[in-house]
Amino acid sequence: MATKKPAKIASAKKGKGWVRTCPACNSDMAMAKILRVEASSGMFWLCSNASCNTLVTSAGANAGVLDLK
Ligand SMILES: [Zn+2]
Repeated sequence: MATKKPAKIASAKKGKGWVRTCPACNSDMAMAKILRVEASSGMFWLCSNASCNTLVTSAGANAGVLDLK
């Protein structure tokens, strides 16, 4: 009979600070390196919702919406 591992091991991988919820639509956000010409570039949280694309800076400030052309 196999012993199940404690749930805390599975959740320990997702450390706090690496999971963020979109302030606009509550979808999960992912860290992404964004390069922009007319605005600041660097590491941003990017909303995983393709119709939202909200950006949040790594410091947590709202950075608007990614303009995909
Ligand atoms: Zn969103």
